[in-house]
Amino acid sequence: MGTLSIVATPIGNLEDITLRALRTLKECDVIYAEDTRVISKLLARYSIAKPLQRLDAAKEIKKADEVIARLENGERVAFVSDAGTPGISDPGARLVAHVRKELPDAKIEAIPGPSALATALSIAGLDATAFTFLGFLPHKKGRQTALKKIVVSEIPVVLYESPHRIEKLLKELEGVSRITVARELTKIHEEVVSGTPQDVSAHFASHPDTIRGEFVVIVTP
Ligand code: SAM
Repeated sequence: MGTLSIVATPIGNLEDITLRALRTLKECDVIYAEDTRVISKLLARYSIAKPLQRLDAAKEIKKADEVIARLENGERVAFVSDAGTPGISDPGARLVAHVRKELPDAKIEAIPGPSALATALSIAGLDATAFTFLGFLPHKKGRQTALKKIVVSEIPVVLYESPHRIEKLLKELEGVSRITVARELTKIHEEVVSGTPQDVSAHFASHPDTIRGEFVVIVTP
């Protein structure tokens, strides 16, 4: 029976990869990736050449059957998402669930590493003994209900947001007293801005070039 390794990869800075992750990627028989072009950059940086297969959210179950066949064949299979920890607002969870169900004897191992939510919390300077992670809010159905819950939460709430929607989200959060927005973590333009949603909106409005990249929003009670 083979091994399925779920490998966390950098969220920006390509140096943020563990020795174990590199060894796993070097020693596996095949790498399944959310997007083979994205992982190719990381592999090129570390001179790793491996057969690559695409396994994105749309094909997760179909491709999981292929992974199962490989594991039955004794192969070592690695799975990586585009950035950070697979399964966290990324493909991976259905692959793991399917393999656990269909091939209970297969070894599934975690190769831990970065995740944007832990990275943001580590430099937000707030008590993260307990927090709620909601990832991306639904775009339509359920959004208002989620926002109402966030406003009354007694512990920090961590959200993911894209540059296209960050201004809308900041407007919607205007009822809360304080937020922290962490942008472009581990990259050259890494930035953390805190204040009321209005303060943070004003900051981005006065630096329009900064409404780019990737955002973690932490709502503080
Ligand atoms: N699996 C990833 C993880 O472990 O964090 C999350 C993938 S999710 C598709 C992508 C979202 O994560 C982005 O829209 C952003 O909200 C957040 N994110 C990822 N990289 C980031 C970074 N370098 N800085 C800030 N946020 C980031």
